[in-house]
Amino acid sequence: VGRMAVKPTVLKGKSYDWFQTDCLVTIVIYTKQKDINLESIIVDHQDDSLRAETIIKDCSYLIHIGLSHEVQEDFSVRVVENVGKIEIVLKKKENASWKCLGHPLENHNSFIPRKDTDLYYRKCQLISKEDVTHDTKLFCVMLPPSTHLQVPIGHHVYLKLTVTGTEIVKPYTPVSSSLLPEFKEPVLPNNKYIYFLIKVYPAGLFTPELDHLRIGDFVSVSSPEGNFKISILQELEDLFLLAAGTGFTPMVKILNYALTSIPSLRKVKLMFFNKTEDDIIWRSQLEKLAFKDERFDVEFVLSAPTSEWTGKQGHISPALLSEFLKRSLDKSKVFICICGPTPFTEQGVKLLHDLNFSKDEIHSFTA
Ligand code: FAD
Ligand code: NAD
Repeated sequence: VGRMAVKPTVLKGKSYDWFQTDCLVTIVIYTKQKDINLESIIVDHQDDSLRAETIIKDCSYLIHIGLSHEVQEDFSVRVVENVGKIEIVLKKKENASWKCLGHPLENHNSFIPRKDTDLYYRKCQLISKEDVTHDTKLFCVMLPPSTHLQVPIGHHVYLKLTVTGTEIVKPYTPVSSSLLPEFKEPVLPNNKYIYFLIKVYPAGLFTPELDHLRIGDFVSVSSPEGNFKISILQELEDLFLLAAGTGFTPMVKILNYALTSIPSLRKVKLMFFNKTEDDIIWRSQLEKLAFKDERFDVEFVLSAPTSEWTGKQGHISPALLSEFLKRSLDKSKVFICICGPTPFTEQGVKLLHDLNFSKDEIHSFTA
């Protein structure tokens, strides 16, 4: 029905094309890459402008168009992985034939290193806020219906608020709504909800402002960033997670993924460093998970415990690590993730090298 193709635009091998039916407009992006998935494409549609950013390795291919006709708010995104083709299907508001897709907007059809691109933000609504510890809360925000965005495991986004005319921006790592499947929110097929575990610092610049938002208020959320690759966990046998305080956040999705999607996995061990028992995020969930899944163990280490604490104490140290990092088999394939305050992570990485773990066996989450 009225299929109308324009000449494909070619730029360093990336190109796009479009065609239409009576009620749909389909934009096709040819990435010529095999490792493309729904995380590779970020689409924002606002008023009559469409912004589609395709992440190809360390580069970003941008389609940015002022559409010639009105379309409905929601759209769908499909990926044909084996040929690296992405399709964005827009719904026309009126069943008229379009003569052209629209006019180019800023940086349209550019293919540039991601480090040279500005972060793009969209406004998300605060849906819920729940106490987790005395100072840490689980925040849930909802992406607009006009956005397609999935945060890869181990990546973070930036949250932005404008406070008395000044923009404040800080990075946060999305988590799952829970560690235990029975408490998990039903995952919507289009991943509209993003959860964060965020510690509120009374004297902090950003977190008190975030905490002051009411349900229904808006916070700007950037496109994801990060260098962790989930593929590193393939065929893994032992996974060790070293987390301090909110450095636990990247571990949440890694832990869920490891226990559900790595058949070779024999053991996941989390060593979780906190000041006091009251500071431990999701302690009972972690204990329940360890009880239910024999592959998972958790060990809490406190740096400022009360006299009643009978568990491990102190800061990260050679003694704690050498006892903890025992392989389940002599030559098992291991991987270690570490995240926390900068001095914690730096000391930890140094200790891991001293214990003869190689660079390829360690991922440290840093700014
Ligand atoms: P800040 O203003 O940065 O202050 C933090 C604390 O330091 C306060 O107690 C403040 O009083 C004190 N302080 C500030 N300046 C000084 C100073 N000069 N001397 C002494 N003390 C000072 N956090 C999370 O809770 N959850 C996450 O998922 C998360 N993910 C992150 C991901 C990445 C990649 C990175 C880099 C950080 C992440 N963080 C996360 C930390 C987060 O980005 C913020 O740093 C944190 O929320 C503090 O922000 P703030 O502006 O409220 O506090
Ligand atoms: P916290 O102050 O409550 O400390 C938690 C534990 O960290 C302590 O019990 C101690 O064991 C260890 N620790 C703290 N300071 C240390 C030091 N100087 N040397 C050695 N060990 C030390 O932690 P928090 O307030 O929850 O802060 C968490 C930190 O993690 C923040 O700095 C945040 O920016 C960082 N973080 C980073 C990422 C990331 O880079 N991807 C993600 C989440 C959190």
